[in-house]
Amino acid sequence: MSFSLSQRWRPRQLIAASSFILLVACAEKPTAADALPLAPAQPAPNVTLPGTATDTSSEIQPLQTFAQWQAGFRQQALLAGISPNTFDRAFLGVTPDMDVIKADRSQPEFSRPVWEYLDGALSPLRVRNGKKLLEQHAELLGRIEQRYGVDRQVLVAVWGMESNFGQFQGNKSVIRSLATLAYEGRRPTFAQDQLIAALQILQNGDIQPEAMRGSWAGAMGQTQFIPTTYNTHAVDFDGDGRRDIWNSTADALASTAHYLQSSGWKRGQPWGFEVQVPAGFDYWLADGAQRKSVSEWLSLGVTLPTGTQLPSGSSQLSAALLLPAGARGPAFLVLDNFRAILKYNNSSSYALAVSLLGDRFSGWGFIAGSWPKDDLPLSRSERMELQNLLNASGHEAGNADGIIGANTRKAIRNAQQAQGWPADGYPTHKLLDSLRR
Ligand code: CA
Repeated sequence: MSFSLSQRWRPRQLIAASSFILLVACAEKPTAADALPLAPAQPAPNVTLPGTATDTSSEIQPLQTFAQWQAGFRQQALLAGISPNTFDRAFLGVTPDMDVIKADRSQPEFSRPVWEYLDGALSPLRVRNGKKLLEQHAELLGRIEQRYGVDRQVLVAVWGMESNFGQFQGNKSVIRSLATLAYEGRRPTFAQDQLIAALQILQNGDIQPEAMRGSWAGAMGQTQFIPTTYNTHAVDFDGDGRRDIWNSTADALASTAHYLQSSGWKRGQPWGFEVQVPAGFDYWLADGAQRKSVSEWLSLGVTLPTGTQLPSGSSQLSAALLLPAGARGPAFLVLDNFRAILKYNNSSSYALAVSLLGDRFSGWGFIAGSWPKDDLPLSRSERMELQNLLNASGHEAGNADGIIGANTRKAIRNAQQAQGWPADGYPTHKLLDSLRR
């Protein structure tokens, strides 16, 4: 994970989620891995596309030089218990990384539709590789399941989503990236906390400074943990005395399991399942905050796709109704374990990808509903325009920041209702056009 922002289903600071925004990998999403404070949800995964515009004011115009900043921060680090030796060795030759500044300031104009994001996340190659790894590490995964109670398919799915099973961990110096963000990033306090945590990891001897690599946002290793998550949740599962989420598959998978367990994972429960929503349904109920038992949802007319069955024992479990692409797209009832995945990365698109990928390893996880492929996500400037138009028409969408958070979603629902449309809170070109008139 990387920094990401997002959220409506969100619970975490971690990232992006119900908001259906995903920042993509590494692009931004806080969570276990990534972590930045998140912005409220957005309609679709925000994935950075080639040609994305970046804030052109990315010249550094700091109030102090990097050396001055470093000297001040060194005092703070020593007060936090970092030894002079650890600090000086970690900062040897460190300079600001302009690529990190650029990534931090990038505000993608275009979002990738959730169906395209899922196609990439659930590629046949990834499914094949995951199945192979499930076999190869069967014994290890059995021990991890035993210890933490988290399904092996989900662990391998997170592993695949975070680092393509360890292959893409990010190759930037974590100290340099975080020092750059602490010096001149958009969230300096967050970056400083992460940097102190990273220095603690070095001081503990789990990894050498040169080998401490990660994403531009400081997400590290096969699990893409940010340093604070590492400190609280990384485990030494192979017993060599070091918590090595970079090079030890056992440590990485067990650390992921430990994090999910701490995030409320319920042993043996499903993540959720696809459903169908009846005509005339009250779409105000399709909101992460509206939780009802599965049987209550069924009594409201929600049904299972033909040929599917309710996961055993799930009828009394608490669920929310998720519509990743609004009322015209597929619908899902999502349970507590889905929320645990959101703690890893607060993006409902991400959590859906992990959930479906885990199912695909077992031969299911195919979606019966069809995506509204003519409904492309609004661009960032269109989302801002929509917010301005909603505000102008008396629907309080809040600050026009291009982020579809709870206020904007509610304003969208009100505007939809005024038109007599399903009030799903999903921002569409149709709604934007109607407000432009
Ligand atoms: Ca170890």
